Amino acid sequence: MASGLVYIVGAGPGDPGLVTLRAREVLAGAESVIYDNLIHPDLLDWAPEGAERVWMGKVGHGHQHAQEEITAALIERARQGRVVVRLKGGDPSIFGRLGEEAEALAAAGVPFEIVPGVTAASGAAAYAGIPLTHRDCAPSVTFVTGHRRKDGGKGPDIDWEALARGSGTLVLYMGVKHLGEIAPKLVAAGRDPSTPVAVVRRATWPDQQVVEGTLADIAERVAAEGLEPPALTIVGGVTRLRAQLSWFEGRPLRGRRLLVTRAGHQAGDFSTLLRRRGALPLELSLIELRPCGHKSGVEASLKKLFAYDWVVFSSVNAVEFTFRRLGEMGLDARCFGAARVCAVGPKTAELLVTKGIRADVVPAQYVAEALVEALKAEGELRGASVLIPRAKDAREVVPEELQKLGARVEVLPIYENVRPETYPAAALDALRRGELDAVTLASSSAAKSYAALCQEHGIDPKRVACAVIGPATKTTAEDLGLPVAVMPAEYTLEGMVGALEEYFAGGQRSALSRRLEPKTTPVEADS
Ligand code: SAH
Repeated sequence: MASGLVYIVGAGPGDPGLVTLRAREVLAGAESVIYDNLIHPDLLDWAPEGAERVWMGKVGHGHQHAQEEITAALIERARQGRVVVRLKGGDPSIFGRLGEEAEALAAAGVPFEIVPGVTAASGAAAYAGIPLTHRDCAPSVTFVTGHRRKDGGKGPDIDWEALARGSGTLVLYMGVKHLGEIAPKLVAAGRDPSTPVAVVRRATWPDQQVVEGTLADIAERVAAEGLEPPALTIVGGVTRLRAQLSWFEGRPLRGRRLLVTRAGHQAGDFSTLLRRRGALPLELSLIELRPCGHKSGVEASLKKLFAYDWVVFSSVNAVEFTFRRLGEMGLDARCFGAARVCAVGPKTAELLVTKGIRADVVPAQYVAEALVEALKAEGELRGASVLIPRAKDAREVVPEELQKLGARVEVLPIYENVRPETYPAAALDALRRGELDAVTLASSSAAKSYAALCQEHGIDPKRVACAVIGPATKTTAEDLGLPVAVMPAEYTLEGMVGALEEYFAGGQRSALSRRLEPKTTPVEADS
C-alpha cells in the first residue's frame, strides 16, 4: 500500500502574503488540507480544486475537535496514501502542538515534514510597528502562554517571578481574557506598573486592532474596548516605539476590497498601486484583448508608417499591438521614419520610449478634444496624413475632428476587446455576496462588460459602488444603471486611487472586515 505523507505547515498570522514559498508549494500538491481556525481563506484556494478541505479547529462554542481526533484524521489519510497538509496558524512549533502531532505521526510510522511559519508575535511586531528587541531597552524577548491547560496536565508552571525580572520584552500568547490576573502577577513580582503594554488583535489582518496601556491599566482598557481573541499582549518599553513606527493601520485604503477589471498586465499595475495604499485588489478581467484586422491590410498600413505625417497612439494597448505586429513582420521603430508621433497619456508615452520612440506630442489631458488641440498647436493639419492604430469600435470623435480640420485620417483597428469565456470564481462570489467595497472601471467598454456580467450572473449591480476613471466611462456606466460613486479630477489610474482614498476617508466599515470576522469566537486554549 502506498504510504502518504503529512506536511505540518505554518500558515502565518493572517496576511496570506506572509506564508512561505514552501507552504504554497506543498499546498499546490495537497490531496487533503486539514486546517485550523484563523487560517486565511485564500490559502485554501491554493490547494488543487479536487483536494478535500477539512476544518478541524477548536472553537469556543459548538463542536471542538479533540487533539486525538485530529491526529487520527491525519494518520488515517496518510495511510490511505494521501498527501495531507495540516495547516496551522502562525508557526506550528510555537503554542501549536507541533510536538503532539508530530509525535503521534512518528509513533504511527507516518512520514512527515514540517514547514515553519511566521509566528503571531513576529506578525504583530511587524504590523503594529513594535520591534521585539532593542539595543537600548530590550535585550531579550520571551514568548509565554497566558493560558493554562484545563485538563490538569503535568506541564511545568509558569515562573511569573522569573519573567517579571529584568527588562526583556514579554509576549503573551492567548490569555487576553486573563490580563486582569496576569498583569498584577507581573507587578507583584517586580515589574514596574508603568511598563507600557500593547495588545494586538488579529495582527496582520485588514481589521487589525491595537490597544495600548500600561501593566496597571491594560486589563481595564482591553475590557473597555471589548477586545476578543485572537490577541497577543506585548509587554515592555519597545511598545512605545509604535508611536513612530506604526505603518499598517494608517494606510488610506487599508482593508478595502476592490474589484480590478482591467485586462492582463494592466490589472497587475493597477493592483500594485492599490496594494501600496493598503487595499486588497481582486482581479477580474472583463475583457480580453486580441489582435484583429485582416493581416495583409494591417501589414500594408504598417509597412508605410514612415509616409504618414502623424501616427497617433491613444492607449498603451495600441502601442503594444502595433509593435507586436511590427515584430511579427520583422520590423522595428526605424519604420516610423520621419513620421511624427502623438501619445495620449504619459503611460503610452513611456511605453513608446521602451520601443525606441519618443513621442513628439503628449497631450496634457486624456480626452479626445485635448488631443486634437495639441496636434493643431503643432502646425497646419490641412492635407496632413494621420494614422490611428487603435481598438476596433473605438469612439469616432478624434478622426472626425481631425477630418474637419482637413486631415486625411486612416483608422487602423489593430486589436479588439472580447468577453472572456469564464471568470474567476472567487471574484464572482464576492460580487454575488456584495463583499466588495468598490468596482473599478477604467473604460466605457469595462462598464459595458461589467453590466453585462452582472446581468448574465443574476448579480444586482446596485450592491457595490463603482469607481470610474473619467466622464465618458461615467456616462456609459450611469446609462447602464451602475451606481457611480467615485470619479477622479485627473483621469488616470493614479487619479482614481486618490479619489478612492477620499471616498473611503469617511471610515465606513469595509466589506472585508465583515467577511473575515470570525463566525465563532476561537477559544484561547491551545496549550
Ligand atoms: N502557533 C501560533 C500560535 C497559536 S496559539 C503562532 O505561532 O502564532 C493561539 C494564540 O496565538 C492566540 O490566542 C493569539 O494569542 C495568538 N495569535 C494567533 N494569531 C494571531 C493574530 N493574527 N493576531 C494576534 N494574535 C494571534
